[in-house]
Amino acid sequence: MNNFKFHARTDIRFGRDQIINLPGLLTAYGKNVLLVYGGGSIKKLGLYGQIIDLLKGFSIVELPGVEPNPRITSVREGVRLCKQHKIDVVLAVGGGSCIDAAKVIAGGAFYDGDPWDLVVDPSKIDEVLPIVTVLTLAATGSEMNGNAVISNMETKEKFGTGSPNFIPMASILDPTYLFTLPKTQTAAGTADIMSHVYEQYFQKDDEAYLSDCLCESILKTCIKYCPVALENPKDYEARSNLMWASTLALNGLVCAGKGGAWTCHPIEHELSAFYDITHGVGLAIVTPSWMRYILREKTLHKFCNYARNVWDFEGEDSMELATKGIDATENFFKECGIPMTLKEVAIEDKSIHDMAVATTNHNDMESCYVGLSTEDIETILKNCL
Ligand code: NAP
Ligand code: FE
Repeated sequence: MNNFKFHARTDIRFGRDQIINLPGLLTAYGKNVLLVYGGGSIKKLGLYGQIIDLLKGFSIVELPGVEPNPRITSVREGVRLCKQHKIDVVLAVGGGSCIDAAKVIAGGAFYDGDPWDLVVDPSKIDEVLPIVTVLTLAATGSEMNGNAVISNMETKEKFGTGSPNFIPMASILDPTYLFTLPKTQTAAGTADIMSHVYEQYFQKDDEAYLSDCLCESILKTCIKYCPVALENPKDYEARSNLMWASTLALNGLVCAGKGGAWTCHPIEHELSAFYDITHGVGLAIVTPSWMRYILREKTLHKFCNYARNVWDFEGEDSMELATKGIDATENFFKECGIPMTLKEVAIEDKSIHDMAVATTNHNDMESCYVGLSTEDIETILKNCL
């Protein structure tokens, strides 16, 4: 097991009606709040009105309209508001997109240049305003991690950035907020959770047994409960398990003692940068193709462990067993209703080369679990058409 740092600083309030704790959680940081939210789902949920009522003693400045695949333009506007209104704390209410935007806004408040610099070069992130979140979509883990992914549509770029200072101070996780999620977002969110786990599970260092067991448990939780939530959106048990799975999948817990570059996320970021598709959908499309491409003698044992421990297939290590696990993965995403080809999300053959080049230009794909060249990525994507 490698050395690691694990600092879980986020004050998590999990469960029904935990929103009543919001004023107390914010008071620690000040009275001037920037409220960051998306296209209106929190109003339909009734959450917006509840928050405004709860925060009567606070001065609230709003940044509505943060897009899925949040744009740098929204971040710039948020930074402007922080500076103009001397904001003390940034409150993000929504999914990963709102939370990610809030993080770069909170960092941009102390930065003199264009906040896009903080996206391109995380070493420029220094002081950050405190961030508090109210999560409404189980997917990214942004509620308890230091990552943010921001898009620049003018330059067709979507980059991940991050800092320990981006980790939220507190997050409210009420699974009943997930009841209104459309099926597509429930399924895409689950694919994102599972992909976060795959990125950390399939790594070169294989001696972190405990971390791998945690990965397998999170995957099994997604496989058990996503179909339940799709069938009955108001199933509290399913929603609560998915919500906690999203947080644990990407808060540093399951990569403790492991490490290495990610594969499917960098590839998906180019799909979203070029075509603005839903992150989890892109991941679900790429994952089985990637798994098949990297299945070889060197990775066989890991894929067989995956087939046995996650999908309950039996047998000694063999290509057949490994393939059963990969087929089960693909079928699961299909049964959740996710479009499973690039054509279905209107991504065309002609852009594949450019997206593969962009992936290797922007990321060190040689250090992945199985190192990939531009040609390898092109083949993986062509196999998704
Ligand atoms: P999202 O982009 O935040 O939200 C997707 C859609 O779901 C929005 O249209 C939103 O509507 C709607 N929505 C959210 N909550 C809802 C609810 N309770 N009921 C009904 N509709 C609801 O989705 P996300 O998957 O959480 O975030 C995706 C972004 O995070 C991508 O940019 C991805 O690259 C990034 N990401 C970040 C990390 C990280 O570690 N930070 C990890 C993986 C991915 P409204 O706009 O109206 O609210
Ligand atoms: Fe993700």
